[in-house]
Amino acid sequence: MLTIRRTLAILVAVLLFPVLFLPQPESSLFVLLKICLFGAVLFTLYLAVFPEVSLSDIQFLSSGEPSENVNKTIRKEVGKEYDGLIDLIIKIVESVNPKYNMAIYILSPGSQSFAVQKSSGSLFSPEVNQENEILHSVTNSTSGVVIQRKDAGEDWNALLDGKSWRGSETLLGSPISFRGMPVGCLIVYVDHFSEVHEQDSGIISGLSTLFSNGMDHIEKIEKLSMDSYYLERIAGMVSSVDIRTDDDHLWDGITHLCRSLFSYDKLSLSILEKDSQMAAVKLVDGMTEDMHSGESFNIQTTLHGRPIREKETIISSYWENDYQDSGRFKPGDSSIYHFMSILAAPIRINGEIRGSIALEKLSTKGYSEADRHLLEFLALNLEGILSWMEEYQLLHQSAIHDGLTDLLNHAAFKERFEEEVSRASRFNQFLTLAVLDLDKFKRINDSYGHLYGDYVLRTVARIIDTSVRTIDVVGRYGGEEFAILLINTDKEQALPVAQRIVDSIADHAFSKDGIDESMTISAGMAEFPTDTDQIRDLIAKADKAMYQSKSNGGNNVTCWGDANATSPPSIAKGSDA
Ligand code: GH3
Ligand code: MG
Ligand code: MG
Repeated sequence: MLTIRRTLAILVAVLLFPVLFLPQPESSLFVLLKICLFGAVLFTLYLAVFPEVSLSDIQFLSSGEPSENVNKTIRKEVGKEYDGLIDLIIKIVESVNPKYNMAIYILSPGSQSFAVQKSSGSLFSPEVNQENEILHSVTNSTSGVVIQRKDAGEDWNALLDGKSWRGSETLLGSPISFRGMPVGCLIVYVDHFSEVHEQDSGIISGLSTLFSNGMDHIEKIEKLSMDSYYLERIAGMVSSVDIRTDDDHLWDGITHLCRSLFSYDKLSLSILEKDSQMAAVKLVDGMTEDMHSGESFNIQTTLHGRPIREKETIISSYWENDYQDSGRFKPGDSSIYHFMSILAAPIRINGEIRGSIALEKLSTKGYSEADRHLLEFLALNLEGILSWMEEYQLLHQSAIHDGLTDLLNHAAFKERFEEEVSRASRFNQFLTLAVLDLDKFKRINDSYGHLYGDYVLRTVARIIDTSVRTIDVVGRYGGEEFAILLINTDKEQALPVAQRIVDSIADHAFSKDGIDESMTISAGMAEFPTDTDQIRDLIAKADKAMYQSKSNGGNNVTCWGDANATSPPSIAKGSDA
């Protein structure tokens, strides 16, 4: 869509343009008027071509190449702008004098030569050695240059395709710069010097300035486009993540994005554990032998701890020279992989710098300032999502845990129960449910008050929790009732575990505020899928077995289906009661 500004500029240019082709000037006032008009035409065309770019909008340079793939589309668009600019210059030159032939030469550093970007006609050589005296002198001049064939040496023939020259042929040239450096020139050829109008040198100079400014602006457009492209992708990644589901989706999203934005041999993202010097590695991509996700490292004295420790980005193409750290993740771990370059930015989480995202390369071909800005930009965007995720996890933790014992609460236990039952049935595994109820607990409350009762409940919860594996699920099922899901375990394997818990509680010397007490617990177990494959039925059967333990005097374990329950330590032989 054309803006009003652009439309007006084009209109003014169209109206002013014909004035340039009025007959040859007779008075110096008229010449002045024509030059002013020409300036106005250039300016309005300039506005038309580059209407919305403002220097203050530019956030960072992307002179490095974070990713060739990413840039392709933008480059294509930018390429069109560049071609359009050259076409515009050629059209203006042809309109100034139809006898003019024009070429734009730009130095190509790789091939040590000037290459034609575009020319009118086929007179100009497509590639000319960068030592060519004519192109070299015009490129390095400060203003326009006029050269006649008779005054030029052999380099004339290298520039213009073979022809028998009369000597009166003339070249007008003007330098082109890019980022303030001379990079090429605009050359106009005319058969005879008499066909060169007096003011044309000024026009050619004006056009080469327009072209130089145009290239700078196109570069800025390219950078702006890339900024918004990255911004869009980062925002897209962040908004597609659902913090309620597991973190994997987020880590995958970050990995995917980093693969397309940067080149690296190893990517890692680490988060400092609460009130600790240890950071947990949350994601790793590329070379993983030296550090996997899930492992932790000390942030003191390590290179990867530096962004968190020093709260600043680190960038180096030879880190051992620049940073005197004891190792990358661990002291002396450089022997595993000899990484040379690193770029790592700190990440703020809930107001504190507690994370870092790091890119490493084995080579000394390090990272550019553009990469640095981009990584810092990504880190800034990760702040929001990681802070939210942490908040959510804290809330979630308190929502699913029992405040007194910190075990899973009844609802969360049942939810896990359903998940584990479906997993066990998928993998054809056993699952044992143990239900445990303190014996005559009411007595404790009645004798010593609720606070002492709470202490007993907390202690019992800790004994149960530390007696099972981390994969097992422990919940507070009711007031003084607990439940354990023993994963991939049948009753026979579960029995010694339950017995150990019963014994540990019986053996424990409860002592608080000068009050010493002892306590026993009764346990009942049922096995999935042998006793039943229905959750409710499994709970009912484990419960009944537990009551069987109680009716046998408490302080023992009964398995559903076993007959003749006896006192500990043997198994209560169950009944269907
Ligand atoms: P039994 O051997 O038959 O299980 O007898 P019991 O006394 O253990 O069972 P009962 O159901 O009669 O009493 C359970 C007691 O647990 C009653 C209740 O006040 C107490 N209780 C439940 N939740 C809490 C709690 O959070 N803190 C404290 N201190 N006591 C609790
Ligand atoms: Mg009880
Ligand atoms: Mg009870």
